[in-house]
Amino acid sequence: MTPPRLPRPTDLVSAAPAMTPFVAPEELARRIGRSELLRLGANESAFGPSPRAIAAMRDAVTLTSWYGDPESLELRAALARRHRCTADEIVVASGIDDLMGLIVRAYCAPGEACVATRGTYPTLFYHLHAYGARAEFAEPEAEGALDPQAIVDAVGRSGAKLVYIANPDNPSGTFADRATLAQLRESLPDDVLLFLDEAYADFVPVDDLPLDMIDPRTIRTRTFSKAFGMAGARIGYALAAAEVIAVFQKLRLHFGVNRTGQIGALAALDDDAFLRGVVSEVERGRDDYYALAARLGLPTVRSFTNFVCVGIGTRVQAEAMVGALLEAGVFVRKPWAPPLDGYVRVTVGTVAERALLAERFVEALDRVREKAAW
Ligand SMILES: *Cc1c(COP(=O)(O)O)cnc(C)c1O
Repeated sequence: MTPPRLPRPTDLVSAAPAMTPFVAPEELARRIGRSELLRLGANESAFGPSPRAIAAMRDAVTLTSWYGDPESLELRAALARRHRCTADEIVVASGIDDLMGLIVRAYCAPGEACVATRGTYPTLFYHLHAYGARAEFAEPEAEGALDPQAIVDAVGRSGAKLVYIANPDNPSGTFADRATLAQLRESLPDDVLLFLDEAYADFVPVDDLPLDMIDPRTIRTRTFSKAFGMAGARIGYALAAAEVIAVFQKLRLHFGVNRTGQIGALAALDDDAFLRGVVSEVERGRDDYYALAARLGLPTVRSFTNFVCVGIGTRVQAEAMVGALLEAGVFVRKPWAPPLDGYVRVTVGTVAERALLAERFVEALDRVREKAAW
């Protein structure tokens, strides 16, 4: 008897590798039988959302029976004021990760390439695979930083029409300044869309960010997940020319934006003092990590974000360090490619979390060094 013919996903999806861009701390805790971990691995804010956002979301939650406004109009109007652009130059979605999928789907056809720096934010590759596209890597400079010429060369050899740059970058924490990006934009063909992922822009002084907020060949993404401390609300947005934004009106999940999250994000925009407080506390936190690493004789990468990469040794040693920290109840991650694959990436915690981290980091390093007979 011939076996029954069962439903099959499309050829494109069948060919995509099964891939989980990130194993979550909840899953890691379950694997080691702990109820919770010191969460310093996903660059979530240790300082929470603004009290104004919390109050607004608390009030909003009773109307969870309603869908959110599919146009996110109030939020887009407030964002337009903040970025000195118009509401039709903004699209709101459930986080940058959502927008990233839409951008790949809209601008990178199956079989085509998207250029990105080797080592950068892995969710991009998850989307590329699922849409049958591929990554063309540009090698980074020292410390995982952007090499603009390598990007231009990768576009030249692959014919890519999409370039992804996280700036500040995750996981390196490095930042390419305004002039560097302007020059890169000018060196790219006009029909190449530059996808600038600015998830950490709020940690950088506004004057250092690229000018020309709206450029018809560039799309920039921002999020409430990092400095605003609202990762669980799932609110991100893109800034681009109205013609580019109009493309997403065809593809986006119109009712996919969380109503409570929209309302919280709007309230958060009204609390600049809170945001500034977070940014300066994060700066102190980075200094604590630099000092800890220096005390242990370990190198660090100067970061423009809410995390710091600390050099442990080889890739194997850094992996052992991530494992030893997890055993001690601390969740961190590490960069996946050279030159930073011998580093671990630690998110800035509260003062108390940083003190606990310092203790456990020293112990874990001792254990790893004993085992590995350095
Ligand atoms: C955290 C992060 C994201 C995800 O942002 P969401 O808005 O939570 O989806 C995207 N890009 C980079 C570089 C990040 O670090």
